[in-house]
Amino acid sequence: MGKNCVFCKIATKEIKSSVVFEDDDVLAFKDLNPEAPVHVLIIPKKHIETLDKADREDVQLLGKLLFTAKEIAGRSGSLAGGYRTVINCNRDAGQEVFHLHVHLLGGRKFSWPPG
Ligand code: 5GP
Ligand code: ZN
Repeated sequence: MGKNCVFCKIATKEIKSSVVFEDDDVLAFKDLNPEAPVHVLIIPKKHIETLDKADREDVQLLGKLLFTAKEIAGRSGSLAGGYRTVINCNRDAGQEVFHLHVHLLGGRKFSWPPG
């Protein structure tokens, strides 16, 4: 567990969240400050600070994060027209919580390029 890591505390249920999906490796929960009608965060239960810090041994786990996003999106009728997955890596990309997470966003249109 990362020291004082908010997402580790969410993973162990020390901090409450609205859980969308859970298994032994990953947890998906609703973002506290949603940027879209659907905004879910998918995290590994293992503390990995950021994508940059993932090891080769994490390859399967990284795949599972994306696969979980796709499974959740597939269950949500409002995402039938599309959705976006985002990983902010480090400060310049806007990462605020340093426990790896995939944003699953949908239910509205998104522009490109992102801001
Ligand atoms: P980042 O900017 O690091 O990619 O995204 C962090 C996300 O975590 C933000 O969208 C923020 O709203 C969300 N967040 C931060 N703290 C909490 C929390 O305690 N609970 C939940 N559900 N989301 C959080
Ligand atoms: Zn953590």
